[in-house]
Parts: sequence; C-alpha cells; structure tokens
Amino acid sequence: QLLVHVGQRLISAVRPEDTVARFGGDGFVIVCEDTDEERAHEVADRIMAGFSEPFDLDGQRLHARISVGIAICPPHSAPDLVRFAEAAMYDAKARGRNRVQVFNAALAEESADRLSLSNDLRDALARDELVLYYQPVVNLRTGEVLGAEALARWHHPTRGPVSPAKFVAVAEATGLAPALDRWALDRVRRDAATLRRALPSLHINVNISATHLSDPSLEETVLSVFRTGDLSVDELMLEVTESAMMANLEQARAVLERLKAHGIQSAIDDFGTGYSSLGYLSRLPASKLKIDRSFIEHITEDADALAITSSVVRLASRLRMITVAEGVETPEQLAVLRDLGCTGAQGYLFSPAVAPARLADVVKRLTGTDRSTDVAS
Ligand code: C2E
Ligand code: CA
Ligand code: CA
Repeated sequence: QLLVHVGQRLISAVRPEDTVARFGGDGFVIVCEDTDEERAHEVADRIMAGFSEPFDLDGQRLHARISVGIAICPPHSAPDLVRFAEAAMYDAKARGRNRVQVFNAALAEESADRLSLSNDLRDALARDELVLYYQPVVNLRTGEVLGAEALARWHHPTRGPVSPAKFVAVAEATGLAPALDRWALDRVRRDAATLRRALPSLHINVNISATHLSDPSLEETVLSVFRTGDLSVDELMLEVTESAMMANLEQARAVLERLKAHGIQSAIDDFGTGYSSLGYLSRLPASKLKIDRSFIEHITEDADALAITSSVVRLASRLRMITVAEGVETPEQLAVLRDLGCTGAQGYLFSPAVAPARLADVVKRLTGTDRSTDVAS
C-alpha cells in the first residue's frame, strides 16, 4: 500500500510528459525528457516537499523518507543513466537520507573503482584467494573460549589488504554477497579439522551478508555445507546484523526459522545499531545477541552506554538469549561487562582474529592466562 501511495505522490510531483516507474524493492526511476540540472533539481525538490506529509494507510499515519539521485544525459550516456543515478542515490542515502545528490566526477570514480574491485573479488573468490581469520569469544564467567567468529581477509595483489568493511559493501552493491557467503561457509568447512585442534567442541560464527538474507538461495547454500560431513550443524552459527533483519523482518524470520528447524542457530549482530522493534526481538529465532562495539567502547565513561548495555543484557536473558559483547579492549570494560552478567566477549583485549593454524596457541594463552593472572578471571 505504501508503495502505491508513494507512486501516486511521485506522479503528482512530475510533469505529464515525464515517466515514473518502480524499479524493484523500494526504488523508483523517474525519466524527465528535455530537462537540465536545474529543472531536475526542481522536480527533486517537489518530490521532497511531497514527502514531508505523512502517508495515510487505512488510518495509520506513516512518515517515509526518501533519497534522490540525479544523473543527466549529456554528458552521461543513456545506458549509464540509471546506474549513475543509483550511485548518486546511494551516496545521498549514506549521507543521511532525505537528500538529493547529483552524480559527479568523484562518484564516477568511486563507481568505476567499485566495479573494478567487484571484478577482482569475483575472481579472488573463484580462485579461493581470500582467507578466514578467527577471533576467539571468551566466556566471562569461566574464562573458557566459547568459540570463534570467522572474519574474511583479502590481500589484493596490487592494492594490498582490503578491509572487509569495504569488500563486503562492494559485494553487496554488486550482487556478489551470496558468492562471498558461500565461499566463507565452505572455507569454515575446510578449516574445521584445524580449528578442532584448538577448540575440540567447535563453535564457529559466520557472518551472512545483509543482501543475502533476502535471497532465496540462502537456505540451500547453508544446508549444503553440511552434506560432506566435515562440519555438523551444532558447530556453526550464523550472524545476521540487526539492521539486515529489520529491513525484511518477515522474510528474515522465516528463513532463520527454517534453518533453526535443521539445527542451525543464529545470532543478531551489531545489536543496538539497527532499527529494532523490541516487540519483534522475542519472535526472532535467534539465540545470541551481539552488543555492538559502539556501546562497549564507551561503557566505562558514558552512563548512557552503560545503561543501554545493562538493559540489553537483562532483556536478552529474559528472552533466553545469550549476550556477547563486541570489541572489548580494556580490563575495565571487561570488569563492567562481567558485573552486568554478559555471557561472553570478544575483542583485542583477548585476541584479534588470527589464522586458523594460530588459533590453538591463542586459546592456550587465553585459558592459561585466565588461571594465572587477572586479565580474564
Ligand atoms: P563484525 O561482524 O561486527 O565483526 C567485528 C569487527 O570488529 C571485525 O572487523 C573485527 O576484526 C573487529 N574487532 C574485533 N575486536 C575488536 C576490538 O577490540 N576493537 C576494534 N576496534 N575492532 C575489533 P573486520 O574483520 O574488519 O570486519 C568488519 C565487518 O566486515 C564485520 O563486522 C562483518 O560485518 C564484515 N565481515 C567480515 N568478514 C565477513 C565475511 O566473511 N562475510 C560477511 N558477509 N561479512 C564479513
Ligand atoms: Ca559479526
Ligand atoms: Ca558485529
């Protein structure tokens, strides 16, 4: 219903000779013939003004926000227009929504760079050139290592190391997310024997890309990892960010529910940074909640960060979920988290993510340290 209303509002903002089309999801394309940048801006301003009023859906008032990207031909060629307008729209969105952005040289360079990185990533995945590093998760009560989170690392032949934040975003923007996740799941399967030497009762968390969550192939991709018998379902947990779940709640719930029926658990990642609907938390089939580093970072000096973390830990425990704090860097943060009753923690205080062959040494150090010093006891 909202999409229909939005469509109507867009039509009323343009001229009769312009074309309004829905382009999939919540994206619309407007083609304005015989126009220039100034007039394109006028159309965009009229659209923005139209969105300041709420939508009335059967008596329910909804405010929708909009981001607009503009690309103009000439100078750009017609086949590039939609792609360039989309790049400008994503830029507007990234800079806080409710904005209009015209495609420019910097965006052109960015988009070319993204395309070249995406091509390289596709090849690197096909040639198995990425690796997974593993970051231990420590039980705050016992000091044991509960498991580890798998984090992808890519050393590009000419660019050097590319940060996962960057290549995951590129993968998501260019349709490579399912391939990246498929690779990561399979890499865990192939690393399993090495990892079991470090953690006999293996618990590995794997990140699932936001855009993959709404892809019908996800379920089959995950299930196929277990067919060779190298990994069992209770050894793997999926991490899905809160914002990815909230972007498509019903679909996320359905697929995670089906995977859970197969024995595969999931965790809500980066909790506190998405658009949570707390009511929904109890209906999501997740068993673990990972508290985002942005709260942990300030937990010792910011009363609000402490209050939020403390409430999240209690809320999760009432919903029978365990909590893991992300990005723990100092003994002071650790002490606070332990007092709050948080189940587990990961972060540089314990260890960064390490190569699979190094995990056994790290686990030994962590469990040894726990008995002899104060760091994790
Ligand atoms: P994330 O899932 O929230 O992963 C935690 C990030 O925090 C990792 O960054 C980790 O190296 C970093 N980190 C861990 N402890 C600390 C700490 O004490 N302090 C600080 N400052 N940072 C810490 P990384 O490896 O750069 O990954 C960034 C993001 O990229 C991840 O965030 C995840 O969303 C995504 N990602 C990484 N690997 C994969 C993957 O295989 N597949 C998918 N889909 N996403 C991945
Ligand atoms: Ca994660
Ligand atoms: Ca996280």
